[in-house]
Amino acid sequence: MSVESLFPRIEPLLNRVSKPIQYVGGELNSVVKEWDETRVRWALMYPDAYEVGVPNQGVQILYEILNEREGVLAERAYAVWSDMEGLMREHGIPQFTVDGHRPVRAFDVLGLSFASEMGYTNMLTALDLAGIPRRSADRTEDDPIVLAGGHAAFNPEPIADFLDAVVLGDGEEITLAVTEIIREFKEEGAPGGRDGLLLRLAATGGVYVPRFYDVGYHDDGRIAAYTPNRPGVPGTVQKHTVMDLDEWPYPRNPIVPTAESVHERYSVEIFRGCTRGCRFCQAGMITRPVRERNQDTVQKMVKEGVRNSGFQEVGLLSLSSADHSEIGDIAKNLADEYEGTNTGLSLPSTRVDAFNIDLANELTRNGRRSGLTFAPEGGSERMRRVINKMVTEEDLIRTVTAAYAAGWRQVKLYFMCGLPTEEDEDVLAIADLATEVIRTGREVTGRKDIRCTVSIGGFVPKPQTPFQWVGQTSHEDVDARLRKLRDRLRGDRKYGRSIGLRYHEGRPSIIEGLLSRGDRRVGRIVEQVWEEGGRFDGWSEHFSYDRWEKAAEVGLAGTGVDLDWFTTRDRDEDEVLPWDHLDAGLDRSWLWQDWQDSLHGEESLEIDDCRWTPCYACGVCPSMGTEIQINDAAEGRPTLPLTVL
Ligand code: SF4
Repeated sequence: MSVESLFPRIEPLLNRVSKPIQYVGGELNSVVKEWDETRVRWALMYPDAYEVGVPNQGVQILYEILNEREGVLAERAYAVWSDMEGLMREHGIPQFTVDGHRPVRAFDVLGLSFASEMGYTNMLTALDLAGIPRRSADRTEDDPIVLAGGHAAFNPEPIADFLDAVVLGDGEEITLAVTEIIREFKEEGAPGGRDGLLLRLAATGGVYVPRFYDVGYHDDGRIAAYTPNRPGVPGTVQKHTVMDLDEWPYPRNPIVPTAESVHERYSVEIFRGCTRGCRFCQAGMITRPVRERNQDTVQKMVKEGVRNSGFQEVGLLSLSSADHSEIGDIAKNLADEYEGTNTGLSLPSTRVDAFNIDLANELTRNGRRSGLTFAPEGGSERMRRVINKMVTEEDLIRTVTAAYAAGWRQVKLYFMCGLPTEEDEDVLAIADLATEVIRTGREVTGRKDIRCTVSIGGFVPKPQTPFQWVGQTSHEDVDARLRKLRDRLRGDRKYGRSIGLRYHEGRPSIIEGLLSRGDRRVGRIVEQVWEEGGRFDGWSEHFSYDRWEKAAEVGLAGTGVDLDWFTTRDRDEDEVLPWDHLDAGLDRSWLWQDWQDSLHGEESLEIDDCRWTPCYACGVCPSMGTEIQINDAAEGRPTLPLTVL
């Protein structure tokens, strides 16, 4: 049966909402397929505002891969702002996709991509507006399969009751595999109904169906076990790893947003994974091993992507872009190719010890030399040893002053506050470092107008990392340390004015911590917050700590556990963690040992990256049947050289 566009009902409301263009669709490279000519239909939702969600790589890749297949249709959906939500409720308009403006309830799958846990309340808004029952157990044959992916899906337990299925890891292959299972299931006349389909998905071992697992608790509140409650459902669920990125050169036809968005550029992922071993970094741990995209593929993708989109900026994406074994050639060739045009290049993520100022200069041949960002993450050398991000102060000062000497005037340094074992002195060391950066910068350039901005985020312990057992620092302690740092910088008459400080208060990190390491009991809190009006919790202007704190009291009443129990409590090695049955490939004892090493301020024995040194047995490759993939010519090269003044 055909599904009509809701646009004739949406359009009259658009002059009453902010940024109406975000609901209109029709962007360059968007696709609207005939409903009746397709058999499997996905609504791909990024549960944040259009301006944040539209550049998301994951959604764009899956959108293109699915729409390339005959008989398959994919449309995009984003969270609607409160003004639109109110009007939709008033006029009975359900959650819609921006491509065909079709109701998401009509699709076979509602696929949600969670880059962050703070989008959970937006998911509940979308389900409610769509007319899809909030809880998986209450859904019927007329409802889509609500399936989550993205980094936050590595612990989906806080929203397990609202999800039908979860996939871990790279989406390209598993999305097509799920599509095939749905196609066959429908062709066979949907045997066993909704549960029949979910059982087929669960039986693959690569799709987690939370409803098929019972959770038992000890009297003290800790989890006793996760137990499959249906025959054929595996005890653990594995993540997915795409082994040849060159076979998946997407996006080829990037969506060009019609409304302003957070990134307006064509982004190419130059490699996936990171084996540097920073202990706080969930992304690095869950995306192992490193798989590089070949230089030729990168160049071809850039050429095609720029031609198909008209973007004037190209981002070379990855977790640590300067670590690509061919980054020098890639940057030089692209800079040559686009010399004299308006097309600029950027490396959005770099590591200070791998950063090469020559490379930065190459990338900005076509553009302004405004600012460079480095992320030492920890203020003191001791702290950097604890987090296994070993950059010596000397390395950092040398790199930053090289940047000033090469004509850069603004340097941004990113740190975290609230790291394990942190003391006031570790945070105050940030002031010393920034002061030294300015002092040497002035000396090298002979100028007084150089600036350094210190930007500080709150540390949140994440699942599937060596810090998954650590008690999070309280927001009171984080705030007190940040105040001391601010006072230290303000009191410095000689250099303080050249140093900017940006930080957020500690309370949102506690809620992120609750949602990152929570279990199924936290679902009631999310629901309560949503009922009390929680929306867009990732936006500081919409976030209310009080709302979350009150909801935690109500939601956890009678459970014997509370907000502190989930956040600031240390866990023992033998405690069952809510994500232990979800296999990211990492060996649990390796993670634990790494956590113990960090307590003694020891760098990982494997400080040298396994791209260039022997395997140090983190467990991923043997358990997932994968291997490190880098250009052979790069073997034995531990890092890019720093430019020495
Ligand atoms: S298993 Fe070995 S080679 Fe593979 S990511 Fe882990 S340490 Fe590196």
